Amino acid sequence: MGSTITLNRLSKTYPSGHRAVHDISLHLEAGEFLVLLGPSGCGKSTLLRMIAGLETITSGELLLDLQPANDLPAGERDVAMVFQSFALYPTMTAAENIAFPLAARAHDEHTVAQAVNAVADRLGIRSLLSRTPAQLSGGERQRVAMGRAVIRRPSVFLMDEPLSSLDARLRVRLRTEILSVVRHTGATTVYVTHDQAEAMALGDRVAVLREGILQQVGAPDELYDLPANAFVASFVGTPRINLVHGALYAPIDGAMTLSLGAQKLVLPQRMTDDHRLLRVVQGQPLLIGLRPEALRINGTPTPYERPLTAEVTHVEYQGHEALLHVTVGARSAEVPRTASVQDEQQGLGSPLLKAVRSTIHRIRGSLAHRPLPPSPPAPPLPDRYGVGELVLRARQAAGCRPGDRIPLLVDLRALMLFDAQGQRVFPHPTQPQSF
Ligand code: ADP
Repeated sequence: MGSTITLNRLSKTYPSGHRAVHDISLHLEAGEFLVLLGPSGCGKSTLLRMIAGLETITSGELLLDLQPANDLPAGERDVAMVFQSFALYPTMTAAENIAFPLAARAHDEHTVAQAVNAVADRLGIRSLLSRTPAQLSGGERQRVAMGRAVIRRPSVFLMDEPLSSLDARLRVRLRTEILSVVRHTGATTVYVTHDQAEAMALGDRVAVLREGILQQVGAPDELYDLPANAFVASFVGTPRINLVHGALYAPIDGAMTLSLGAQKLVLPQRMTDDHRLLRVVQGQPLLIGLRPEALRINGTPTPYERPLTAEVTHVEYQGHEALLHVTVGARSAEVPRTASVQDEQQGLGSPLLKAVRSTIHRIRGSLAHRPLPPSPPAPPLPDRYGVGELVLRARQAAGCRPGDRIPLLVDLRALMLFDAQGQRVFPHPTQPQSF
């Protein structure tokens, strides 16, 4: 059975002065599969190695099964690790390599052979057991290393990019096997990767890190649908979310509009709490986030869709669909540096996000019907067509050519807004609704 793992404000500063992990708090239930996801150098391995006992903890607390473990030697942690480059014993057969952790514990030969066969069956390498590592392919060696790690049924499994040296197809196949093997042992697992698709496919939950700071932790669909900030939004999902500059205008006697630069979207009149909340962010510089599937080019609009005119810049054929690159007169936005979830919990979030949060309390309270403040007038639209590209998926893009002007529909239910610091302000951060 797996252990619980608790990180309480864990930090690591290397002797060089480099702060690799900053103030991370997380709790893993027994048997949970958590993925640490982030770009190279964001502190994933450092954090994993602290859990393993291979790296000292600068500050904060690590608990295994609720017992303090900061100073517990690695050998006493009942933890198995699998790395990107597997160190198999070159002179031993696959069977001997897998059996190694058991042999060291003086089990009888028959029990060892049975355990090795069971693990090898699960990993599909039964017929390879008599080969040495040199006689195995990369993927097969990886399976042997997995077998060696799971055979003694550790209560914690730590994996550091175990598939990154394999080709794409093998990676997809092996990750299914990893899940099956790990679930079978019941071990609590922390899995490090920089590959968002792998993270989304494997994790019960995914913790996204940037520069040593935890950005968000949640189930894969939560990260995708309700990213805490523009960094998470753009790190998760391919093609990447479209991020463009924009602003919201809310005239007291007219419909709210969302300006994307040269064009604008008129929002529906019906006021949900979320919709009212948009008045708080009116006139502020915003980043508009639209995932590729929030945009389409064909058909009649639903009540939640709004039209734009798009100019095709590029069509990327992908077989079952095409990726259509278009411009709508908006300016592409970079992902801003963002505050961490901890900062936010400690009240250090961006001023706009704080305003949004306090407004939500007000709206939900007795002041819900207070008159809203008048809005500033909309500024004139820029006369130059912006260069920001939006990418969408299209089934029937065969007729599209660069330079074509086509109607584009934007699904407002999939609209995301981020403030200038990149924090998501719409759908609003607590119990979000949509249109
Ligand atoms: P990741 O696994 O996300 O690629 P790491 O945890 O390996 O990131 O590294 C996080 C940061 O800490 C990087 O900037 C890296 O250069 C730095 N770092 C890693 N190990 C050491 C070390 N032993 N001494 C100093 N800096 C280190």
